Amino acid sequence: WTAARELAAALVGDSAGDWDVAGKLPADVLLRMGAEGVLCPQVPEAYGGLGMDSLSCGELTAEVGSRCSSLRSVMTSQGIAAWCVARLGDDAQRAEWLPRLTSGAIACVAFSEPDAGSDLSAMTTRIRPDGDNVVIEGEKVWTTAAVYADFILVFGRYADGAAAVIVPTHAPGVRIERRPDPLGCRAAGHADIRLDSVRLPSGSVLGGAGQPLGMLVTSALTYGRLSVAWGCVGILRACLTAACEHAATRRQFGKPLAGHQLVARHLAELLVDEQVSTLICRQASGHWDDRTPELVPSAVLAKHVAARRAADGAARATQVLASAGARDGSVVARAYRDAKLMEIIEGSNEICELILAEQAVTVWA
Ligand code: FAD
Repeated sequence: WTAARELAAALVGDSAGDWDVAGKLPADVLLRMGAEGVLCPQVPEAYGGLGMDSLSCGELTAEVGSRCSSLRSVMTSQGIAAWCVARLGDDAQRAEWLPRLTSGAIACVAFSEPDAGSDLSAMTTRIRPDGDNVVIEGEKVWTTAAVYADFILVFGRYADGAAAVIVPTHAPGVRIERRPDPLGCRAAGHADIRLDSVRLPSGSVLGGAGQPLGMLVTSALTYGRLSVAWGCVGILRACLTAACEHAATRRQFGKPLAGHQLVARHLAELLVDEQVSTLICRQASGHWDDRTPELVPSAVLAKHVAARRAADGAARATQVLASAGARDGSVVARAYRDAKLMEIIEGSNEICELILAEQAVTVWA
C-alpha cells in the first residue's frame, strides 16, 4: 500500500485547508485517486482494484483521513458502493461496475431521507419493477459525494423487501441539489437527491431482486463504519502531530507549552485516543480479514470508539493550539468540525450505544 499512500500524500499535500474553505475537491485529484483504485482499495485486482485486505485499506484510509476528511469521506462512499456491488451483485454486475469504480468513476451511497435518518426502516423510496425495467421514486438527503458522482447507489423499498439499485446521475428524473455550508467535511460534496420516475433496466438492481432491508443496510454500514473509524484514526494522528509540534515550540511562562503539566495531559490523552482507536480498528479489520462472525459488532465498536475519541481529541488539540488554531483552514479547527460529524454519521453515538448494549446483553447476561 506504500504506492497508494505516496500518491495520496503527493496529491493532497497540504492543500486540504484550502479545499475545505473553497468547499470543493479538485476534479483532477478525484479522477487520479479514482483511476488508481485508491478510492476503493479492497476491490480485487481481477476487477482493476488494488486487492487490499481490510487492514491495509484501513491504514490507507487513516493516511487519507489524516490529510483531508472530505477526500476520506468520498473514499468511504466509493468503498461502500464497491463493497455492495461485490457482495450483493451477480457476476455480470461485478464485471460491469467494479472496473468502472476502479478507473475513475465516482459513486455515492443514498440511504437517508427526510423522515428516515437513524431509523432507516422508515425509508419510503420505492423501486418498482415494470416489465424489463424498474422505476425509482423518492427523495434522499445529505448524500456524501453526490456532487461529484457518476453513479448513486440508492437503497429503497422493493416489493415486500428492499433493494439497492445503481442510478447514473445523468439519468432522466435525477435531480441533485448541493447542501450549502455543512459544519465539516466541507469539500465532501454533500447533496440532496430527488428521484422522479427514474426508469432503468432491471439489471441495475444489485442481485436482481428484493432482499431484507436489515441485511442490505448492515452489509453497507459495516464497510462504512470501519472506513469512518479508520478515518477518525487519521484525524487523531493529524491532531497529535499538530498539538505536539506546537506544544514543543510555543513558549509561555518561560518554557515550552509541553512543559506545563496541564498541557502535557492533553498530549497524553491525545496519544491514548490515537492508540486505543488504532488498536480497536485493527481488531475490527482483523475480523473482516478472517471473516469471523464478530465483524458486525466489532465494526460498530470501532466506529463508536474512534468517532468519540476523534471528537474529544480534536477538541483537545484545538485547546493546545488556542489562537494559533482558531481559524478556518487550520488543521485542528478543521479536525474539530470534521470529527463532530463522525459522531453523527454511519450510526450516531446513540445508535451505536443501542447496538452495543444489545450485544452486551446477548453476551454477558
Ligand atoms: P435523527 O435520526 O433525527 O436523530 C437525531 C438525534 O436523535 C441523534 O442524536 C440521534 O442519535 C438521536 N436518536 C435517534 N433515534 C434514537 C434512539 N432510538 N435512541 C436514542 N437516540 C436516538 N446519509 C446517506 O444516506 N448517505 C451519506 O453519504 C450520508 N452522508 C452524511 C454526511 C454528513 C456530514 C451528515 C451530517 C449526514 C450524512 N448522512 C448520509 C445522513 C446521516 O446518515 C444521518 O444524519 C444520520 O443517520 C442521523 O440521522 P438524522 O440526522 O436524521 O438524525
